[in-house]
Amino acid sequence: MKPIVCDVAIVGGGPAGSVMAALLAQQHELKVVMMDPKLDQRWIPNYGVWVEEWEALEKLLGFSLRNCLMKTWPNTDLFCGGSHGIPVDERLRIKRAYGRVDRTALKNELRTRALDGGAILLAKALDAESVVHDEEGSLLRLDDGTRVRARFLLDCSGYQSRLVTLDGTHDPGVQIAYGIECEVDMCPYGEDAMTLMDYRTDYLDNQAAEVQMTAAREPTFMYAMPMGPTRDGKKTRVFFEETSLVARPPMSFDECKKRMELRLKYLGATVLSVEEEEFCYIPMGGAIPVRSQRVVAFGGAMGLVHAATGYQICRSMAAAGPTAKAIADELKKASYNPDTAARAVYDSVWTRTTRLQTPALSAPHPH
Ligand SMILES: Cc1cc2nc3c(=O)[nH]c(=O)nc-3n(C[C@H](O)[C@H](O)[C@H](O)COP(=O)(O)OP(=O)(O)OC[C@H]3O[C@@H](n4cnc5c(N)ncnc54)[C@H](O)[C@@H]3O)c2cc1C
Repeated sequence: MKPIVCDVAIVGGGPAGSVMAALLAQQHELKVVMMDPKLDQRWIPNYGVWVEEWEALEKLLGFSLRNCLMKTWPNTDLFCGGSHGIPVDERLRIKRAYGRVDRTALKNELRTRALDGGAILLAKALDAESVVHDEEGSLLRLDDGTRVRARFLLDCSGYQSRLVTLDGTHDPGVQIAYGIECEVDMCPYGEDAMTLMDYRTDYLDNQAAEVQMTAAREPTFMYAMPMGPTRDGKKTRVFFEETSLVARPPMSFDECKKRMELRLKYLGATVLSVEEEEFCYIPMGGAIPVRSQRVVAFGGAMGLVHAATGYQICRSMAAAGPTAKAIADELKKASYNPDTAARAVYDSVWTRTTRLQTPALSAPHPH
């Protein structure tokens, strides 16, 4: 069977792959093939974003994602009391809106745009060992034997990518979080705010000294999104996540779960039912891809993460417009060369300045 021929093959249909498929197909009118064995599955992470940053994407992407927030809060709260003379109940309220991404709406929005631009979406995996590069582009084989010939190969397969070579030792600290979407008898935090960090440790005061010492060595905080009362008004829904901001080696999910249970009990909240569990694992920076290689990585595969917070989705979305333009500009050249093109696209994202900021801030800014 003849291979499917395209301008850009995108490996991975997460947020990074989907936004690139939308931009390359719809705005740059390129022939795009995107493949992902989990194409039709729900995206797992519950993405949280600053509303300001999310709204700013409209200008960078050329379309709005406002309808892709399922809930917003006008305030963001932090609790850091209990030490350094700060009273335990002191609340720091930031008047900056926070939002929870509606992952289904976001996926639909990006996929609709990709399909509108004529992109071909395949629910198949790339066999990473099969990739052959030549002077015209790359030839790929998928797990069902389908072959794809692409002039440009874009790797959006996430932080476990097997397609790109990293520059140097990759030993990042890791953000770990254990989360639950649940119904509780009462929300221990204000309903008019999203609690970004509850770093208090008074919930451990009655625990053994060893437990307290472990928590001092490996601190975690509660991240909570109050989702409002249930239909009968008798309970309330909350997304709780006990989070280790960064640790090397990573903290265990079990420890986060144990602390969440202790904290909620101390705060007087009883979990009545759990709708969904989330196991969050985010490498916080680390090595970035070698820039002189044929395959260009994007999103998690490229290390596009804010190394101090773990925020990634806005970083990827913000860098998507300039990256798509750089790819389209290269593909338009009469003297198109896939190696030169890959290097030019890497250089457009990882500028000298952004490379110098690594790992202090290992995410490129749009420019
Ligand atoms: C639980 C969790 C919660 C998070 N919460 C937040 C948050 O609140 N805010 C934030 O900014 N960031 C958050 N992140 C970090 C980051 O935004 C996500 O990891 C994001 O999903 C990365 O997007 P991506 O498209 O690069 O990779 P992914 O979402 O990992 O998508 C990669 C895709 O590639 C596919 N793939 C892999 N190998 C192949 C192959 N060989 N062939 C074809 N397809 C392949 C996979 O099936 C997958 O669908 C979170 C991460 C996790 C894990």
